[in-house]
Amino acid sequence: MHPVSRRGTLYIVSAPSGAGKTSLVAALIENIPNVCISVSHTTRPMRPGEEDGVNYHFIDRDTFLAHVKESRFLEHAEVFGNLYGTSEDWVAEQLAKGLDVILEIDWQGAQQVRRLRPDAVSIFILPPSLPELERRLRGRGQDHDQVIARRLAGAQAEMAHYGEYDYVVVNDTFVHALGDLVAILHACRLRQTRQRETLAATIGELLSSPPVNG
Ligand code: GDP
Ligand code: ADP
Ligand code: 5GP
Repeated sequence: MHPVSRRGTLYIVSAPSGAGKTSLVAALIENIPNVCISVSHTTRPMRPGEEDGVNYHFIDRDTFLAHVKESRFLEHAEVFGNLYGTSEDWVAEQLAKGLDVILEIDWQGAQQVRRLRPDAVSIFILPPSLPELERRLRGRGQDHDQVIARRLAGAQAEMAHYGEYDYVVVNDTFVHALGDLVAILHACRLRQTRQRETLAATIGELLSSPPVNG
């Protein structure tokens, strides 16, 4: 194989809170090489078990607004009363290195990213049912009742945007949903436009060398 010189692909993953996007994306990067997850900035309070710089960069509202002023976010949005934003520089650096980057962002952020980068590939994850979504949100055991109620109330508003995405995956059985995500990334890596860059040298040799028996 020849060295890879192409830029990475940008993926957007959205889902209503509790549908399983964080667990699925974490499992996905264990199953596919050369892909990383963007760590967002947020003003949301840290949950038990979360770590600054790992799950999110946890910052206060003033710092967040200063970042907005300095145009440091590729996209940003207010979700359930908290501000969330994606670091433009970090994402650009990973893509330039040839890594694929996954953004776990809401529909508002997805719309902003699509406008800026029309080549981004977007995936919407649906829960199998509303009662199951509620079970997962409660089962995660990390949010207060009031926060869970707010997230459930917002679930249908988020899901109403599924039609804006390239792919839709239902997270019923975890391994099946994971298999679907792996299939999407594999298919995207096999696209002619991407293979053209990845295989430039090989294709050049195949097309320009004299035929074996000629
Ligand atoms: P969880 O998805 O239930 O684990 O809850 P979070 O508090 O982690 O995320 C809340 C919402 O914020 C979700 O809809 C995310 O998609 C969205 N979100 C997280 N990070 C970002 C970001 O960097 N930008 C945008 N626009 N939305 C984000
Ligand atoms: P999100 O990031 O979309 O808010 P999480 O990844 O935090 O969702 O998942 C919410 C909860 O649901 C977690 O406790 C997770 O372990 C659980 N979960 C995720 N996928 C499934 C599934 N297919 N079946 C059952 N539980 C799941
Ligand atoms: P949570 O606070 O439960 O981690 O995330 C709640 C929601 O915020 C999730 O649905 C997630 O997709 C969204 N979210 C997280 N990070 C970002 C981000 O950087 N940008 C946008 N637009 N949404 C985000």
